[in-house]
Amino acid sequence: MMTVLECVRQQHDLGLVGLSAVICVLGCFVTVTLMALTQAVRGRSCAWELLSAAVVFGSSVWALHFVAMLAFLPGRATAYDLGFTASSIAIAIAGSHAAFALWRHRSGSPILLGCAGLMLGSAVAGMHYLGVAAMHASALIFFNPIYVGVSFLLSTTFATLALARARNLYGLARRAEVALWLALAICGLHFTGMTAVTLAPSNLPEGSNYVLGSSALALVVGLVSIAILIGGLAILLIQQYLSLRAVRELARMRLLSDLAHEVLFIHRAGTVLEVNSAGARMIGMPVQRLIGRNVLDLFAAHDAPALMRRMTCRSEDLLPQEFEVRTSGGGLVPVELSCRNIEFGGKPAIAVALRDLTERKRDEARIRHLALHDALTELPNRYLLGQRLAQAMDMAADGANSVAVVCLDLDRFKPVNDLHGHAAGDALLVQAAKRMLAELRPADTLARVGGDEFVAVLADASAPDQVSEIAGRLVAALSRPFRVEGHQIEISASAGVALYPADGRTGDTLLRAADTALYRVKDEGRGTVRFFEPAMDALIQARRQMEYELGLAVERSELQLFYQPLVNGCTGEIETFEALIRWHHPEHGLVSPAQFIPLAERSDLIVRIGAWVIDTACAAAAGWPRPWRVSINVSPSQLRQSDVPMAVAAALARHNLDAARLVVEITESVLIEDADAAVAVLTKLRGLGVRLALDDFGTGYSSLSYLQRFKFDKIKIDQTFVRRLGEHTDTLTIVRAIVNLGHNLGMQVTVEGVETVEQLAILRGLDCDQMQGYLFGRPAPALKVSDPERAQIRALFVAPLMRAVS
Ligand code: C2E
Ligand code: MG
Ligand code: MG
Repeated sequence: MMTVLECVRQQHDLGLVGLSAVICVLGCFVTVTLMALTQAVRGRSCAWELLSAAVVFGSSVWALHFVAMLAFLPGRATAYDLGFTASSIAIAIAGSHAAFALWRHRSGSPILLGCAGLMLGSAVAGMHYLGVAAMHASALIFFNPIYVGVSFLLSTTFATLALARARNLYGLARRAEVALWLALAICGLHFTGMTAVTLAPSNLPEGSNYVLGSSALALVVGLVSIAILIGGLAILLIQQYLSLRAVRELARMRLLSDLAHEVLFIHRAGTVLEVNSAGARMIGMPVQRLIGRNVLDLFAAHDAPALMRRMTCRSEDLLPQEFEVRTSGGGLVPVELSCRNIEFGGKPAIAVALRDLTERKRDEARIRHLALHDALTELPNRYLLGQRLAQAMDMAADGANSVAVVCLDLDRFKPVNDLHGHAAGDALLVQAAKRMLAELRPADTLARVGGDEFVAVLADASAPDQVSEIAGRLVAALSRPFRVEGHQIEISASAGVALYPADGRTGDTLLRAADTALYRVKDEGRGTVRFFEPAMDALIQARRQMEYELGLAVERSELQLFYQPLVNGCTGEIETFEALIRWHHPEHGLVSPAQFIPLAERSDLIVRIGAWVIDTACAAAAGWPRPWRVSINVSPSQLRQSDVPMAVAAALARHNLDAARLVVEITESVLIEDADAAVAVLTKLRGLGVRLALDDFGTGYSSLSYLQRFKFDKIKIDQTFVRRLGEHTDTLTIVRAIVNLGHNLGMQVTVEGVETVEQLAILRGLDCDQMQGYLFGRPAPALKVSDPERAQIRALFVAPLMRAVS
């Protein structure tokens, strides 16, 4: 060490040594700053920065060496071989470039780091000893191998240390430290290397291959080097400041774009330069892996042509367009792409925004589905039915085939809603839809077009037998008991069928024809299938017209009540008058209730008509000269659809009629459709003090069981029994049994339809409480109440009793 210091002090011009030291330190700092730049580079190679660092470092080593050599005072002027001098600078640059390149790519391996240090140290040493060798022409050069070894060791050690500490060069202190280690590597080698050298000057050579050393030359080289280095450093620092600002701006931009929900990325010529975290999330890949990829790789293959067209983002491409992004999992995400031309990193680039359309597409699909399907059963609705029917007809027209339209209506569905609630009704409809679907073929369509109305379109229905069989299966499927919320529910269904092209050539006419056939089935007693027949149409048209006119009848006062007497079964005394409705139709004259009451029952007209009957009958009875009872007929659908007890109570109060004078007649079908609800209404009526009669007894189903469900005040034996009295001998037995049963249950018994004295004679022996029939009086608008008329009726009962034959 002492020898080295003595060498510096005694054999060197200290001023020039100082200059060389400044060159060295400055050069090293500039080198380190360039090395720092290589660490800031992202997404591209840092070849230029590495080369610049090597050039600055190599030149600095060389400048230090040259100035320091000129500061060396061997006693006389020295000549430098230009070839050797040029080679020495070349080796310094090439060696340090290789070392920096290895350092940059060492990926944390200590062995590679050692190799890089060794290379850098060797570059410095190579430069130095080649530079020393450049003096060979003017001096004999002797090397002390120990100092040579030490110089090499010092150089590689400091170089390795410098590269090891150059891991993170963002801070100024770290850069200064690394610059110091590099300077030590250079100075350590140079001055130890100079101690190792002994020069024996010889004659100066002649020729142009040499340059003669002098202090002035050293000063010029040194100062020029320093000026270049300072200038370079200044440019570097300014550039670094600018790039730092750009990096910060980029970081700010990234932060903002990461906050966006939309995917944002920047590309140039199809290569991704930047992407936000929403993009990484959508594609399922880290940002680093996305940068540098081709834009086409991020989208579905079928989008490539459209993407290529938009790659340059011309003004006509500014409108958003839909594409599909390919995720790392292989899925496709629908997006809306918009782009803008921007400047990025000082060059033109394209910013792309992608809006995720997944949710919007899902909503759209849902809305589309809802627009075409019934929300409860998920079956096609009326609109989609129309489309499917049109398609089926198109196909049938091509292949001379047939299409069948089956209109289905659930019978007895309404009571399910009333009794078990709407949730149960809904559950039943869903089950019904499933059952029907199970009976259909894949090409067929089943739609729900109303509360309990369905339509099936049977494509390819060339054989009517097959259509009939399928429709029959549909009806049968709905007639099997349903299990809903723990209840067993039994309904049935009716179906009307129309065929294309025989029954109609458009969807509308076909549907109307099938509906007409259905209407007919319901008329005839439900639970079956009927094919459309042209005759049905006229009938149903007429009926619809009548329905319309009936709607106006109440306002136009075309309705009237006729009254028919019910007489005592023993004395013939009038006890009650039954109010029977008549319609004075402006064209058809007097229309029978048998014709229009069922019509009214199918719509809510029965409610209005029924209310009018209750009120009119009570008003009439209140004005009668004697306290005869008035009997009114209430139909089952009227009982279900309106609050009959309330209407009755209101009428009684309005006309101040004693409730005991009102009899409500009701047929047993009311107890078949929804017995519990009916019993509740009847109980309310009974609570008002009104009498209740079971009308048309014996025509219905298992009549006896209904008699036990509700205790009526009276049963009215249907007139068909009386008519058959003379024809069937067992009829009398049946009538007698009914009379006895009624009496045993505490009910009065009335016989309807007594027309002849013979019938009266037979019936008198049966102990009937009341009788009604043309024999005693026909229904008439005015009461037949004059004394002679009443006496005439009573006279019928004075005749001797005929012996009843059983
Ligand atoms: P219903 O309640 O059984 O009425 C008795 C029907 O038998 C009446 O027919 C009456 O004219 C008829 N009749 C009475 N005695 C004889 C007879 O000796 N021989 C024959 N052949 N017929 C006789 P109408 O008035 O045509 O009524 C028919 C049905 O229409 C009634 O049967 C009743 O169910 C219904 N109806 C009548 N008025 C009303 C009403 O205001 N409201 C409701 N909901 N239904 C009504
Ligand atoms: Mg009646
Ligand atoms: Mg009757």
